[in-house]
Amino acid sequence: MARITEDELDDIRARNPIADIAMGYTKLRRAGGRLVGPCPICGGKVSSQRFEVVEKDGTWLCAVCPDGGDVIRLVEKVEGCDFRAAIERLGGRTAIDAARAKELFEERERKRLAREKTSADYREAERKRLHRTWKQTQPIHGTIAARYLEGRGLQLPERCPGLRFAPAMPYWHGETIDDHGRKAGPRKIHEGPAMVGAFIRPDGKFGGLHLTWLYDNEYESDLPRKAEILDPDSGEVLNAKKMRGSKTGAYIAIQMHDAPRRLVIGEGIETVLSVWTAMHQAGRPLDDMAFWAAGDLGNLAGRANRTVNHPMLKRPNGQPQKVPDRFPDLEDPGLSIPDTVEELILLGDGDSERVLTENAMERAARRYARQGRVIRIAFAPAGLDFNDLLKAAAA
Ligand SMILES: [Zn+2]
Repeated sequence: MARITEDELDDIRARNPIADIAMGYTKLRRAGGRLVGPCPICGGKVSSQRFEVVEKDGTWLCAVCPDGGDVIRLVEKVEGCDFRAAIERLGGRTAIDAARAKELFEERERKRLAREKTSADYREAERKRLHRTWKQTQPIHGTIAARYLEGRGLQLPERCPGLRFAPAMPYWHGETIDDHGRKAGPRKIHEGPAMVGAFIRPDGKFGGLHLTWLYDNEYESDLPRKAEILDPDSGEVLNAKKMRGSKTGAYIAIQMHDAPRRLVIGEGIETVLSVWTAMHQAGRPLDDMAFWAAGDLGNLAGRANRTVNHPMLKRPNGQPQKVPDRFPDLEDPGLSIPDTVEELILLGDGDSERVLTENAMERAARRYARQGRVIRIAFAPAGLDFNDLLKAAAA
């Protein structure tokens, strides 16, 4: 088969709207101009909203896989087939005459220009906004956020540069509609105390925020817990955690070290703090160690080279569920591990889907392997996370 031209690819994409194809694989709902729902690749077990489709760009993105692209790449990943087979499944290529070719070219140029104008500038402006928010936060020790962590049996390092506290953080959700029924910008549905984490990019710069809204009980005896925030329209309970800005390749420093010999990396802040607390309470030396939270599994492990069949899980149509493989796509550098690290400890929570987590951990181990570096993978027992273990040990 001859090389497929850009025109032919655009024609295939135009004939197969991404929303239609994605909705054939998974259940999606509208949220803030996007379609969100369980990822058709890494599974319905993972909480929703990590897979999203942007119809106007014809793209999809999953933060857990982590992967994304156009409709052809979606078919490749979900079906576990190659590029050519994906094109066949989308109806194959058809002959394109000169008029259609011109139309496709103009559409492509229009989209490219619109993309260039918005994305890079928009992202940088958003990063600067988030950085201003970060600079207005307070040290975490002695705050509601510290008490919230204490309630979960967690302690904080004396110096914990990546975690701070905001007494009144706004929670934005959906759009405000004005008297004329027009969209009038983002809508604030809640404001309250929050634990705030900063993502540090591989270049050492601030990248974005990790936010956990908390509910401060008026009774002193009750410990603060995660806020319950409801969608004012649907009454649906919204996630009290949000990540904003760019976390790709970035981490939250739970314990910082310029040249660590040992580095512990886990998905969530509380996972990593559980291990820090356990080691601290056991009197283990921590001077040569750094502790990072990667935000999610996908960011910890980086992109896979391909997807493979899940050994048990099936899609609704009876086909095997696909999961990202154990082998890394080395074009994605993943996290930037300091050269000084001789021992890398990766934490796998038992509360995520087992095969997905195991593959991610093994992928990370392969990606970060170096001569003279030992890599250990620590798994919490099935159905538990490290915080459950810590609480069980304390009881
Ligand atoms: Zn996914």
